[in-house]
Amino acid sequence: MKRVVLVTGASRGIGYAIARRFCEAGDNVVINFNKTREPALELARAFPNSSLAVRADVSRFDQVKAMVGLAQKSFGSIDVVVNNAGIALWQPFTEADEAKFDELFSVNVKGVFNVCKATVPQMIKRKTGKIINISSVWGLVGASCEVLYSASKAAVIGFSKALAKELGPSNITVNCVVPGIIETDMNNDITREAANELKQSVPLARFGKTSDVAGVVLFLASAGANYITGQVLGVDGGFMIT
Ligand code: NAP
Repeated sequence: MKRVVLVTGASRGIGYAIARRFCEAGDNVVINFNKTREPALELARAFPNSSLAVRADVSRFDQVKAMVGLAQKSFGSIDVVVNNAGIALWQPFTEADEAKFDELFSVNVKGVFNVCKATVPQMIKRKTGKIINISSVWGLVGASCEVLYSASKAAVIGFSKALAKELGPSNITVNCVVPGIIETDMNNDITREAANELKQSVPLARFGKTSDVAGVVLFLASAGANYITGQVLGVDGGFMIT
């Protein structure tokens, strides 16, 4: 049966790969974008009867609410939410300021809150739903010069575990995917030397592809994952094996 899927930050990188995979699987897909319009519109044009590209800044509840309203009007209730939209910041802690803190947390943490707030009530009513939140390995172990990013991604893990406990009785699963280093625009600034050094710490000896993450998200959204909730699933080539 066709599901209704909302993927945030689906104009580029990991989110785009996830949205494309759901489109190819025949689902009704809401492809959210913020500043990068064209790839999202193009994907929607490729699946004209089953997808919708919608601009919304996830940090703004009014815009998220409007997007969810549009999704429900077009396809009905949302079955699967993928909270993927995120921003990174590489900066020594002493240079970080209040504005950067607010910006990072408003997208990476409040964005997840906003989308869940707008979609969970109808999931509870229907006693079904799957929420998949994209965190990061840095949310588990922290990264130097990425204190704010690491903290925001740690918050997503705590948010997911707590929500999983609260929504379990309503038959809603909440899981967290924790990518390692994935080849996207987010890592454009890593120098070749640093990349080679980092790869030596990855047992699979390569960075991840967006399709590596998308495959796991598709699984967590499937019936095969009906009894999986509150989990933090690494997609990191073994980077975080302890
Ligand atoms: P990316 O290539 O930089 O893409 C980020 C996506 O998020 C874009 O589609 C962007 O949309 C969207 N976005 C940013 N701010 C938004 C907002 N306010 N409202 C709606 N959408 C917004 O990043 P990525 O590497 O694919 O990362 C995707 C997720 O994976 C993020 O949560 C990131 O933290 C996480 N992650 C990435 C890696 C990695 O190595 N790449 C590792 C661990 C975790 P627009 O361009 O349309 O604004």
